[in-house]
Amino acid sequence: MTKLKKLLEKEIFIAGPCSIEDRDQVFRIGKKLKDLGVEIFRAGAFKPRTSPHTFQGIGKEGLDYLRELKKEMGFYIVSEIVDPRHLDYFEDIDILQVGTRNMQNFELLKELGKTDKYILLKRGMAATVEEFIQASEYIRSMGNEKIILCERGIRTFENSTRYTLDISSIPILKERTPYKVIVDSSHATGIARYVSPVALGGIAAGADGFLIEVHDRPDQALTDKDQAILPEELEPIINKSRQIRKIIER
Ligand code: PEP
Ligand code: MN
Repeated sequence: MTKLKKLLEKEIFIAGPCSIEDRDQVFRIGKKLKDLGVEIFRAGAFKPRTSPHTFQGIGKEGLDYLRELKKEMGFYIVSEIVDPRHLDYFEDIDILQVGTRNMQNFELLKELGKTDKYILLKRGMAATVEEFIQASEYIRSMGNEKIILCERGIRTFENSTRYTLDISSIPILKERTPYKVIVDSSHATGIARYVSPVALGGIAAGADGFLIEVHDRPDQALTDKDQAILPEELEPIINKSRQIRKIIER
């Protein structure tokens, strides 16, 4: 069993900024998360944005910074892939994220199914649980079973949060798939002060961990600034998540 597999079996706490902005930002935030004991760092180099006129990520260069960070601090790295033609750029990136907008990009999923990377598949914002499971089948049927599912909220009529975290999807996915399931309460709520309670709710529903966006200067973040929590705010979420997991495993 690889070290990463062993870690994922135990708990999956993924944190980092939404976007890689520059080398200094990655190392500043990386250092703070390392000090908290975070082992899986996530940041986006390719950002699939709603508008083509907004910041699209710094691209390939960002992945070089992540590789450097991995070497220096020993993190496992997660980053989003949006195009199978970019696969070569992702050498040494441990977990490839497929974002909500690409959950049904079947050609991308099939190519990822031919790799031996872990794939973090996010639920489409308008996808049913069944469609989510079938999307994971596109990866598995090509031979890759290293899949982590992420409930990141769906579109509903509710507009006091960015999306609505579908808590019931968690026990359903756990029942119907062999995969680890995590919650992303950052994108689900879009509001920093709700990130902790909603993440903990997901953990209580049986999630194996979370994905949370963290920034040391949220007001300056180039993407998703309203939902970014400070590194020090992550520590109690990790501690409480561990306690909740202990209770529900009993
Ligand atoms: C992200 O993880 O920064 C992101 C864009 O997520 P999602 O695909 O869930 O919107
Ligand atoms: Mn984001």
